[in-house]
Amino acid sequence: MDIAKNLEILKTDLPDSVKLVAVTKTHPEDLIMQLYHAGHKIMGENKVQELAGKYHNLPKDIQWHMIGHLQSNKVKYIAPFVSLIHSVDSAGLLETINKEAIKNNRVIDCLLQLRIAREETKYGLQYEDITAILQSQLFHKLNNIKILGLMGMATFTDDTDIVREEFNYLAMCFWKLKGQYFTEKPYFCELSMGMSDDYKLAVEAGSTIVRIGSLIFGERNYK
Ligand SMILES: *Cc1c(COP(=O)(O)O)cnc(C)c1O
Repeated sequence: MDIAKNLEILKTDLPDSVKLVAVTKTHPEDLIMQLYHAGHKIMGENKVQELAGKYHNLPKDIQWHMIGHLQSNKVKYIAPFVSLIHSVDSAGLLETINKEAIKNNRVIDCLLQLRIAREETKYGLQYEDITAILQSQLFHKLNNIKILGLMGMATFTDDTDIVREEFNYLAMCFWKLKGQYFTEKPYFCELSMGMSDDYKLAVEAGSTIVRIGSLIFGERNYK
């Protein structure tokens, strides 16, 4: 596995405007360091414990993104350092993130996760849940979180029509929310969609952040 070469190939393929989050879950720290030495410093993890452990052991100029389902009682472990939380899926979680951000005297950047896949298992909000949050009184009191955009995961399928349709729906929701709730807020500009198998479709649909693991590090071993 030539990690530097995989990174090079991927970067050649991605437009300059699209940011790459290298998904390091299950991979050992020496492999992550190979990527780091190849010049890549934006990493993503989907579990709090693994994220916090790797943060503590690895160089502090790595930007760590939380991309997996996040429980409110675990926010405190990542609040001091997390650079972007992709997976905010409730008003309560947003409130907790704000509280922990205050304790750490910082503003934490977040994305709202929209459920676009047909699978029951995927987390995320419905469009109406998002508008309800953005209209709520509570939301306007949360001064230590910043919503930078939306995140979504497409259905796990070979049917590219379904995946394309889901990404297009996510992009449409993004533009609608931007026009209605974020007109004076240029920082609402991120659309996190696309993984190893579907990032090309995601980029075509307007992705600004892709989250890629297998194409960089190879298959994951969950044992
Ligand atoms: C694991 C994971 C990815 C990356 O998956 P690959 O198929 O290995 O690229 C992206 N996003 C989330 C939320 C993940 O959990």
